[in-house]
Amino acid sequence: CGIVGYIGGQQAAPLLLEGLTRLEHRGYDSAGLAVLGSSGIKVAKQAGRVRDLGDGLPKRFGGKIGIGHTRWATHGPANDVNAHPHTDEAGRVAVVHNGIIDNAAALRAELSGAGVELASDTDTEVLAHLIARSGAKTLEARTAEALSRVEGTYGIAVTHADFPDRIVVARNGSPLIIGVGDHEMHVASDLAAVVRYTTTVAHLDDGEMATVTAGGFKTWRIDASGLSATDRRAKEVD
Ligand code: GLU
Repeated sequence: CGIVGYIGGQQAAPLLLEGLTRLEHRGYDSAGLAVLGSSGIKVAKQAGRVRDLGDGLPKRFGGKIGIGHTRWATHGPANDVNAHPHTDEAGRVAVVHNGIIDNAAALRAELSGAGVELASDTDTEVLAHLIARSGAKTLEARTAEALSRVEGTYGIAVTHADFPDRIVVARNGSPLIIGVGDHEMHVASDLAAVVRYTTTVAHLDDGEMATVTAGGFKTWRIDASGLSATDRRAKEVD
């Protein structure tokens, strides 16, 4: 339902919680966030309100990169395990997802058959495993490979402990925007989560992916041959 992300010089967790609060008007049943710090990725997620998530958050949830989500369940009941972010078995990849993966059942069966233990009932979780299992070199190529297996709609944000300088986001039928700050970047599914920090934003197109670092962003078109750079610029919102 709602996606937020942050990368920059500040602690991510409080900013993510605030961003999630600004998406609450859209409705949701669960909330969660993942923060990438020096000791890897930490995840907190639960059914219920953003406020409860914040109250329960450990004090040492340190890290300057993170992603967050408010969920409106489509695949699997609203419970703590099904809340986003979803991770791979090693906990090195975290994914938040808006939308519906139509071929999730087939992908879940394929992953189970390959020995992967799925933790949740969601369609989303397959993305974390597919990204983790990709042999491609970059996080962008791994994410594109995973998305090439998926039929359906998505806005996603991905963090990976092996790529601790970036968030990768992609869009197909579910909005995704990038807010450009001063040596920091926000990502969100809705302008409401970003305008407090910056009014310089870029909207991804369907079929587009972006690499978001503290210093800026690059956009790519995902096609059959892989990724080709696009020239999307951020603009002032009026
Ligand atoms: N299909 C996903 C799920 O059920 C995402 C739902 C949403 O957009 O919040 O977990």
